[in-house]
Formats: sequence, C-alpha cells, structure tokens
Amino acid sequence: MTRKSEPEEQEIEAWTEGVPVHELSRLRFACPHCGGHMRVRTSKAHLPTYTELYLHCANEFECGFRCKSGLGVIETLAPSYKPNPDINIKFSPWLKRQVRLEDQGQMRLGIDSQAKKKEPKR
Ligand SMILES: [Zn+2]
Repeated sequence: MTRKSEPEEQEIEAWTEGVPVHELSRLRFACPHCGGHMRVRTSKAHLPTYTELYLHCANEFECGFRCKSGLGVIETLAPSYKPNPDINIKFSPWLKRQVRLEDQGQMRLGIDSQAKKKEPKR
C-alpha cells in the first residue's frame, strides 16, 4: 500500500470567522487510525478560549476517519497588551515566577499592573 503525497490545502476555501481555514489547517494532527494528516474542515467557537475543530483524515478513501476535536487556551505565556477584562487565563508557572521576580525588583519584564491583576490569586 503506497500513500500518495497529499495535495496541499488548496481545495480548502471556506472561511471561519474571518480566519481562512487554510490558516487553521496549519495545525498538525495525525490521524489516530492511519497516521495520515488530519485536515481542519470547520470550527465552532463556543467560548472565547475554546474552539471545536472538525477534522477529516486526508487519507479519505483508504481511511475516511472524521472527528470532532477541542482546542482550548490553557495558560498565559505572555500577558496581552490589550487584556479583555472578561477573560481570565491562568499564568504559566514560568510567568508566575517572572512576575514574582519583577515584584521583588530582581527583573524588569514590563508586565503592567493591569495584566498582573488578571492573574487569579490562589
Ligand atoms: Zn486516517
């Protein structure tokens, strides 16, 4: 069984909320069944930090697997310069350490006080 090289995502023309689907399809998922490339066909954003992706195996005729996948924002690695007050994404352990060092005057990160307020206290 030989696997033909897949044509690039040229046939994907649909747009999702202003983002070309071919941009989304740069995400690389391997098909759990055949190991082929999974293509993002469409997505639905239910929450600002969570999007459902509908994936189709590109090995359409030999495999044909389709699934729904979830893409979630789980940690802040660098705070936004334009923080949304309704969004609260926990800081990564590394970022928490950097903020602590900055608070102690040992480091200058340039994280403004508003971004720091976004981090929930635990
Ligand atoms: Zn497959």
